[in-house]
Amino acid sequence: MQLPSALLEQAVNEFSKLPGIGKKTALRLVLHLLKQEPEKVEAFGEAIVRMRNETHFCQRCFNISDSLLCTICANPMRRQDTVCVVETIRDVIAIESTQQFNGTYHVLGGIISPLDGIGPDQLHIEPLLKRAAGGAITEIIFALNPTIQGDTTIYYIQKKLQPSHIRITTIARGIAFGGELEYADEMTLARSLQHRMPVEQLKV
Ligand SMILES: [Zn+2]
Repeated sequence: MQLPSALLEQAVNEFSKLPGIGKKTALRLVLHLLKQEPEKVEAFGEAIVRMRNETHFCQRCFNISDSLLCTICANPMRRQDTVCVVETIRDVIAIESTQQFNGTYHVLGGIISPLDGIGPDQLHIEPLLKRAAGGAITEIIFALNPTIQGDTTIYYIQKKLQPSHIRITTIARGIAFGGELEYADEMTLARSLQHRMPVEQLKV
């Protein structure tokens, strides 16, 4: 792609590094920005830089947050004794969209997958066990993708939690085995939460 300006080319290259954005789309976006008022483009750039520099993980649940605790952990209206364990922040967003869950979360940051070299130590499992040991949790709901790796992760954490009085459940399998939580429709996801089942019934 022959561009008349090195700066334009640099901007196109940066955009095309984003997932799902090819060179042509990148050029279209860059030319769109070029037509905007400079202040608007500045605000656009600043929003991205601030998002990167000023957000971090919630100290308690590893959700994305602007302060030490995320808005969910800091909310006194949410049930702090019920913790929904998810793989990524995208799953938190998906479950929040259902507006059916009033507890808090724990974001693992992935699932156990030996083939990909991901063991329990690379995930936020230890902080979850600490939260559970604190005694303030009465129920842990696993909302992991229904895959072998997801089930292995549940099994591992469940074993680590024993002995305990915490009710351990997993969302019902309205979601196809091998399916992705993020892509489930809100109704299916909401129903899976309502019909969660004890982890012992899960066959690993
Ligand atoms: Zn949090």
